[in-house]
Amino acid sequence: MKAPLAFPRGNVHKAATGRRPALSLHSPVTKPAIKALSLDELTQLFAAQGESAYRAKQVTDWLYKKRIDSFAAMTDLPAATRARLASDFSFVRPELVRVLGATDTTRKFLFRLADGNLIESVLIPASPALYGQTSDRRTACVSTQVGCAYGCKFCASGLDGFTRNLEASEIVDQLLAIEKESGEKIDNIVFMGMGEPLANLTNLLRAIRIINAPWGLEIGARHITISTSGLAPQIRKLATEPTQFRLAISLHGATDDVRSQIMPVNRKYPLAVLLEACDAYVAEKKRLMFEYILIAGVNDSDEQAQQLARHALRLSAKINLIPYNTVEGLEWSRPSRNRQENFLRILRNHGAVATLRREKGHDIAAACGQLRLQTKRTEEKVAAVP
Ligand code: SAH
Ligand code: SF4
Repeated sequence: MKAPLAFPRGNVHKAATGRRPALSLHSPVTKPAIKALSLDELTQLFAAQGESAYRAKQVTDWLYKKRIDSFAAMTDLPAATRARLASDFSFVRPELVRVLGATDTTRKFLFRLADGNLIESVLIPASPALYGQTSDRRTACVSTQVGCAYGCKFCASGLDGFTRNLEASEIVDQLLAIEKESGEKIDNIVFMGMGEPLANLTNLLRAIRIINAPWGLEIGARHITISTSGLAPQIRKLATEPTQFRLAISLHGATDDVRSQIMPVNRKYPLAVLLEACDAYVAEKKRLMFEYILIAGVNDSDEQAQQLARHALRLSAKINLIPYNTVEGLEWSRPSRNRQENFLRILRNHGAVATLRREKGHDIAAACGQLRLQTKRTEEKVAAVP
């Protein structure tokens, strides 16, 4: 989902440079976010305070159906209840720093979190059936961490290291903010923005429950795709999760030597370990898919295609081939169209089910990591000026 960035340097919106006082969400004095709670948790909370249980449903209606911006706006709650909520919980919203793209095309959103960190989300119209989902829909590509610790050699998100996990509320907030800014309803969600979702599993699952719930954003689990670079133990954990979301494995190399060269995580969880975890996942009657970015001269050989087909057949996994999107400052590039088609042909000749991303729209689909990196670096330069 990552793509090249064509944003002129030095063209940073004013708001991007107006730094806010740092407020750490992990600080012990910070209040928990109201948008991280489930209806059940809110119900218990109200019950414990001797209030009617239906108050909880009123709160979730205000948050996720009416989409208000403050406790004060929850006008059918008694003033004392609103005041208590305001003293016990935080109600923050990400600040929109920049939007890139036009209304009818892919739009990238850069948000500043309460503690000043920057994250990106992307809205992609009409997702063709790339993730097994229907077309003519809007897909949101969402971040799960600030930065990424996994340092894949081709990826912009890992370039600047890892800062912190996103809170569940910050994951949910990206969707609320995208729908608010665009005026459009999100149909599909892919966790393919910045960060490794499975390294933030607790907050991810908490967010997915809110996104999926009838009292929440009401997006069906089959319209939610989690993408992972291959954290084997967490894949095994997901196998026992009741929610039927989709799982995509970022393979990008069909042998250990090729995969380790571009994905350091492969040294920790080599293919044998990763594929066994995938076996366990599939044994629970769950389907998964492989993502395979094609990088010229790195992972696009005929042998890689043959091996990849074998892995896919073993797991009955569909393969999404994605031509690599160049990242400023990195040397990698995508193979020629001919080589891409050749790779696809070999997969199909071996009986694998595979698609090759050919749509233009997806080329600019998601600069997750890149927009943030540029803005962050520009801000650092501005801050460094005496
Ligand atoms: N950390 C998770 C999810 C975020 S990355 C993961 O790695 O799966 C989402 C997808 O974008 C991954 O498949 C990743 O390999 C891919 N990706 C990263 N940089 C890319 C680039 N420059 N071009 C195309 N895809 C890229
Ligand atoms: Fe992190 Fe995924 Fe990028 Fe690898 S591809 S650095 S795991 S975001």
